[in-house]
Amino acid sequence: MTKNISLNVDGDGIATLLLDVADKPMNVLTPGLENDLEECIERIASDGAIRGAVFASAKSSFMAGADIKDMASAFDRGVTAAEGARLSQRLNRLFRKLETCGKPVAAAINGVALGGGLELALACHYRVMANDPKARVGLPEVTIGLLPGAGGTQRVPRLIGVTDALRFITQGRPLAAEAALKQGLVHELAPADQIVERARQWILKGGQGVQPWDEKGFRVPGGGGMSTPKAAQAFMGGTALTAKATMRNYPAPLAILSCIYEGTQLPIDKALEIESKYFGKLLAGPVARNLMRTMFVNKGLADKLSRRPVGPEKARVTKLGILGAGMMGAGVAYSSAIAGMQVILLDTTQEAAEKGKAYSQKLLANQVERGRSSQADAEAVLARIKPTTSYDELADCELVIEAVFENREIKADVTAKAEAVIPETAVFASNTSTLPITGLAKVSKRPGQFIGIHFFSPVDKMPLVEIILGKKTSDETLARALDYVGQLRKTPIVVNDSRGFYTSRCFGTFTREGMAMLEEGVDPALIENAAKMAGMPVGPLAVADEVTIDLQWKVTRQTEQDLGRRFEKPAGYEVIRKFVEDLKRPGRRFGAGFYEYPANGKKFLWPGLGDIYPLQSEQPSADVVIKRLMYIQALEAARCMEEGVVTTAAEADLGSILGWGFPAWTGGTLSFIDTIGIETFVADCNQLARKYGKRFRPSRWLRHRAERKELFYPVKDKDRAA
Ligand code: NAD
Repeated sequence: MTKNISLNVDGDGIATLLLDVADKPMNVLTPGLENDLEECIERIASDGAIRGAVFASAKSSFMAGADIKDMASAFDRGVTAAEGARLSQRLNRLFRKLETCGKPVAAAINGVALGGGLELALACHYRVMANDPKARVGLPEVTIGLLPGAGGTQRVPRLIGVTDALRFITQGRPLAAEAALKQGLVHELAPADQIVERARQWILKGGQGVQPWDEKGFRVPGGGGMSTPKAAQAFMGGTALTAKATMRNYPAPLAILSCIYEGTQLPIDKALEIESKYFGKLLAGPVARNLMRTMFVNKGLADKLSRRPVGPEKARVTKLGILGAGMMGAGVAYSSAIAGMQVILLDTTQEAAEKGKAYSQKLLANQVERGRSSQADAEAVLARIKPTTSYDELADCELVIEAVFENREIKADVTAKAEAVIPETAVFASNTSTLPITGLAKVSKRPGQFIGIHFFSPVDKMPLVEIILGKKTSDETLARALDYVGQLRKTPIVVNDSRGFYTSRCFGTFTREGMAMLEEGVDPALIENAAKMAGMPVGPLAVADEVTIDLQWKVTRQTEQDLGRRFEKPAGYEVIRKFVEDLKRPGRRFGAGFYEYPANGKKFLWPGLGDIYPLQSEQPSADVVIKRLMYIQALEAARCMEEGVVTTAAEADLGSILGWGFPAWTGGTLSFIDTIGIETFVADCNQLARKYGKRFRPSRWLRHRAERKELFYPVKDKDRAA
């Protein structure tokens, strides 16, 4: 019996080891558990009374991998590649000892076995998996910038062959029970309450304590390294595909390929050394830190509503009102009905309201067709949406979200009409993408209960919701808006009021920088490709077409009108104007923009671009284009921090990745600056400003931060390298 594992030997001499990590809801590979595993494995090997062993879990899952929070701080603690490799070596030695102890060892997998959890099971000679719908086995390390460093990259190809192993490990997607059995990752499926007994039976019936790779004459199924044409093809094809898909911004998938390529040509012990070496390199690099910190640790905190004020009682929306059944209103209706809410979907005509509901019908039919929802469930969701033109229907809504045209007068009108009928306690939210919330709240009778809940399009796919506080928004209102986002299972960030808030404001700099370069005569194909090389999902011109250049023109003109003499034309202003007013090419929805959209064929850059913006004779390098596109977004994010629009680096980072597709490998806009180094970033910005304009000039605030080497994520004293 140790702190985290209880070991019991039964009358048949079979030891059952129940994993039960203390003080954690899930079993995770903590240093404490590693010590206990070492002690238990020692005992299995040396205790003559033990003839075999079964690893099982006392919790609802087998094991969910390592403690990511701890690993996320490795980079900031100054962990070197060699030190990182030693972490992996320790587990590899331990698991190797287990599989070579000479006694049969089985794993009884309930719930999930991910990362280190699956790697422990792979070091057992036999695996029984619960055939319940929630059970999964997987090696998802690649998604946090790492590779499986406890033998996963070596045992999996030796079990199932190189081609399937590459797919399983570089994609990181866990498999359900049937698929795991079919793939050969587990030996047997059984009902959850029988897995331990089946594992025991395997031992009692003479199961052997030898791994296939320790048998004489073992060969990797299908061949390892370049030993067979099939394996060679898997590595060559895999490397080319991975390099293309990741643009070499993510080191983990290529490290996995190298690791499997090199390792499968060697005996297992040497192969595990290779794995440890690559693991150490990844752990000591910034990309793993960035991915773990933003996409796991900070996303987890945001999902748990870390910004929620503590006082107000937890609230649930049972009935939601939506004003405006257009693109956004229809999307919000769908996501809210899926989450179980009754939805009143209101528009100016019944026909428009019905059309909004039809959007849900289309999405649900698709879900049914793909087997992701039953017909009955889909019908129940649809029945929760009531299209209407009558404000009286809103009488008992706890929350109303307006998504009518982006027009102050119309928004004021619907606010007044809704507030006349909704309960005194109801929250009123605007989904505006540009109009400051404080201004919109001026017409409200209850500005304390007025807030911005900004969704992204398409609502059902986009995970982020930007919550905007008006000057008078109360804590209670914020808490209720966050509770609603929690109901939708989306990730919220909370920002202060400003024109364009946080996300639209930074995203706008990306598209405008692309247009500025176009105007200078940079090859549009170079602009678009450079953005993708940096990891943006689409180029600035393509995405400008998607959101429509027309919308950008409207927003720019509204800003011009609001700011009057304080207005300064932003980069790309003339391009936007020309495409909307002169050329009548306002974006994809209208059939023409920076791209041509043939009715039956792929879009392509409009050939007329070259006539209007002749190419410079000397084109910049892709690196320069990438720098301009990435720096301008990061700089705007820093300005938002300076002005208090965003208040935490974590939210700025999450908002950038989940909101407008800033590349995840960077960790987000502010992690990007920290990773480059704030002094280098500021020096580079000064250089860019001299060459391309004052929009790149770093503010005094940022320059001072650079002088003080002040990071956006200060390294905590406990994390500082010793
Ligand atoms: P849309 O034009 O598709 O839909 C607007 C809907 O509002 C229409 O169905 C219209 O009939 C209805 N409407 C107009 N006046 C009304 C009134 N007085 N009462 C009731 N209904 C009325 O627009 P959209 O793209 O869905 O945008 C709606 C809001 O969401 C805007 O404020 C916009 O800025 C914001 N927004 C849009 C996006 C986006 O990507 N389109 C993203 C985030 C936020």
